[in-house]
Amino acid sequence: MSASSLVTRFAPSPTGFLHLGNARTALLSYLAARKTGGRFILRIEDTDEARSTDAFMQALYEDLHWLGLDWDEGPDVGGAHAPYRQQLRGDIYQHWLEKLDAAKLTYPCFCTPAELNIARKRQLAAGKPPRYPGTCRDLTPEQISERISQGQAAALRFRVPSGEIVEFEDVVHGAQRFNTDDIGDFIIRRTDGSTAFFFSNALDDSLMGVTLVLRGDDHMTNTPRQILILNALSLPVPRYAHVALLMGMDGAPLSKRHGALGLRDLRERGYLPSAVRNHLVRLGHSCVTDGWLDHSAMLKDFDLQRLGRAAAKFDDAQLLHWQKEAAAHLSVEEFSTWTAAQLPTGLDESKLMPFLAAIRHNVAFPQDAAQWVKVVFGSHLELDPDAQAAVKAAGPEFFASAASVLARGAADFKQAVREIGQTTGKKGPGLFMPLRAALTGVTHGPELAPLLTLIPDAEIERRLSSAQQLASV
Ligand code: GLU
Repeated sequence: MSASSLVTRFAPSPTGFLHLGNARTALLSYLAARKTGGRFILRIEDTDEARSTDAFMQALYEDLHWLGLDWDEGPDVGGAHAPYRQQLRGDIYQHWLEKLDAAKLTYPCFCTPAELNIARKRQLAAGKPPRYPGTCRDLTPEQISERISQGQAAALRFRVPSGEIVEFEDVVHGAQRFNTDDIGDFIIRRTDGSTAFFFSNALDDSLMGVTLVLRGDDHMTNTPRQILILNALSLPVPRYAHVALLMGMDGAPLSKRHGALGLRDLRERGYLPSAVRNHLVRLGHSCVTDGWLDHSAMLKDFDLQRLGRAAAKFDDAQLLHWQKEAAAHLSVEEFSTWTAAQLPTGLDESKLMPFLAAIRHNVAFPQDAAQWVKVVFGSHLELDPDAQAAVKAAGPEFFASAASVLARGAADFKQAVREIGQTTGKKGPGLFMPLRAALTGVTHGPELAPLLTLIPDAEIERRLSSAQQLASV
């Protein structure tokens, strides 16, 4: 690691499956670390014990690995700052909470959710931003003991100093300035004893040596609170990069509601991780290259200075574009493995390879291969409505001529088509389209010649004769 190496982290809460918004944060953080020869840490923020599950944690590892990310430190790989699950860091939190206590920067708060709610409503009604009104700030030691002896549960609040300015330079948004008078005392330990996000998240970043916190800009207003805590503990403060939230096509920030935009769901639908990466790296970050980025090209292209402020929108059409690119960039072996489930079993190599070569640029998802398997290796071809129309428009004589020319073999398809053109007087699309329609059942698809060399002559004959029949009704 050099002086310019960045230590970044991804800090998900295992309360659901990863969606594209989290995945984008993970990818950008990963690229920032890898680009600078730094370290990338995975930390599991599972202090909310009721909602965090092991199953979601395992799913997180799987989904991140599927996306092509790896990490230098994390719950599953260990590291110098273990443990990496917040549930296991209770002693560490206790140690630092005591330091805040000793500095008289904390106090127990006995306010119930109902009381806080009333205070909040009152402030909103008065046109003020809601913040903790300080009800328990100045309780005497006697009042505190009395309430504890009555069995009242207490949360722990951080005492925000008054009249101070917290400033930081956000990598994306530039200089930020917050007045502590606008920040109410906030909870750092909940009534159930678990530490709250503001505290454990900031503390862990600092203790783990994180130098750049890259996260969604919904966290921007949390940052001054976190800086206050770190300053109070004389701990190093990382740099922050708050990236614009990722929106769904409906314009709402991506959340668990957008189930279909879960990484898992995309994977099950046949999306390739490299396609997802190429789309994600362009959301909230502008690339110099418009074209395909493989792993090393993506690292080269990535630049923190090109993280954008405008809300980025996930786009189906863009993802599909990158999916096609990703499929086209698979090696022959990868393509063959990817489509294996759709291919006829026991197919001879001599047929398999030319078949894959013929169809590969028309396959965006493995399931797409099935259609071309039917066209090439199947019988009983069905024509879609466009194909039927093209066949009818060509007329029966066209197919009679085509059949007699192709009866001599389809090996030299170009020559055969030329002859069909000469005998029928058709040219251009009027010549190619009906042939394609009759022989493949659709009006678009891979180049015809390589497909036809794989279709048995008898099947070609049968298709042309069916087309002739269809064209004569
Ligand atoms: N656990 C937090 C979240 O998932 C982490 C936020 C952060 O990156 O600081 O929102």
